Amino acid sequence: MTNSSPYDILIIGAGPTGLACAIEAQKAHCSYLVLEKGSITETIRRYPANMTFFSTPDLLSLDNIPFSSVNVRPTRREALQYYRGVAEAQKLNLRLHTRVCGIRKEVQGNSSGNISGNVSGNSNEYIFCIETRRETSSNISSDAPLEKIFARRVIIATGYFDFTNRLGILGEDLPHVSHYYDEPYRYTMQDVVVVGGRNSAVEAALELWRHGARVTLVHRGEELSTSVKYWVRPDIDNRIKNGEIRALFSTQLTEIRTNTALAKNSATGETTTLPADFIFPLIGYRPDEHLLRGAGVHLNEILIPEYNAETFETNVQGLYIAGSVACGCQTWTIFIENGRNHARPVVADILRSLGR
Ligand SMILES: Cc1cc2nc3c(=O)[nH]c(=O)nc-3n(C[C@H](O)[C@H](O)[C@H](O)COP(=O)(O)OP(=O)(O)OC[C@H]3O[C@@H](n4cnc5c(N)ncnc54)[C@H](O)[C@@H]3O)c2cc1C
Repeated sequence: MTNSSPYDILIIGAGPTGLACAIEAQKAHCSYLVLEKGSITETIRRYPANMTFFSTPDLLSLDNIPFSSVNVRPTRREALQYYRGVAEAQKLNLRLHTRVCGIRKEVQGNSSGNISGNVSGNSNEYIFCIETRRETSSNISSDAPLEKIFARRVIIATGYFDFTNRLGILGEDLPHVSHYYDEPYRYTMQDVVVVGGRNSAVEAALELWRHGARVTLVHRGEELSTSVKYWVRPDIDNRIKNGEIRALFSTQLTEIRTNTALAKNSATGETTTLPADFIFPLIGYRPDEHLLRGAGVHLNEILIPEYNAETFETNVQGLYIAGSVACGCQTWTIFIENGRNHARPVVADILRSLGR
């Protein structure tokens, strides 16, 4: 495929949703390409190493291709094997380690500017110019040359995992603070503060404690979220009750220092100094605002894109969203189980719009 021969569909992101879209595009005999800044299912690759899904395998599978797991719920490793196997067996057209930096819509006869500029108007005669940059560990640099790829329609399936919510306090960027939890062994016999009250924070706190860390769980709410997995809930409740994990509710960190963190109780106003060799603020994610806005997509105050709920076409004609990128900051509303189902209506609408 050359620059002068545009793809029918350009899919951004090789997560479960992007792969599902690729399968649909392939079944419809469209020319398509998936651009992925990391590896296949990069988000799952970056999950905590020992993570187990809350979903059963059938609810994570794509296009009814069987996904078997040795347990009721699959592990991260099993899911990585499954999605890699699907991509290989289906011979999906993927270009990995290639980041999309910008999306421009060019109305025929007008090749100027970003879509957010003067070409955001709708027209049947348009093409998308996607600016990409090769990205490998030896080459994560803004100096790498930009390549332009052209497509008639674009599906943004970029999820939300790259952008974490922040505490917005002094010291948050110190090296012992991480917004992603990886694995427990590094933290044995250390004082670790975990911030948050949902699954990510609770599961990290439990795993850290089981591997010999001294854990303090800090949550701004009066109690843990009701969304904590039902089979995890008794475990965390008992660890807190027994004093094995220290939990501070109605409490927020106000400052992070080299080996300590200041925590303020919102009910009493009292500030406590917590020992903190390592700190994990695990307080949620948000989609890539910059990429979406740069493409001309309107976002509401909680970053939910403007789109047609049936076709997933955004306010920019020809530009679609699919999967968890559609949920804005409400990241618990769209996940693999339901996000994968966006692929069929999206590709069906693209086929209709292309007159196929
Ligand atoms: C710890 C954890 C456990 C979870 N457990 C479950 C579960 O049990 N069941 C469930 O259904 N869901 C679960 N989820 C949610 C699930 O991971 C997401 O909903 C899912 O990954 C969304 O799929 P997606 O394809 O929409 O996005 P993603 O999987 O995030 O894929 C987006 C892809 O786009 C790529 N990308 C982003 N920006 C660019 C760019 N500019 N250029 C190129 N590529 C780009 C990313 O690298 C990524 O590979 C869990 C999430 C977490 C964090």
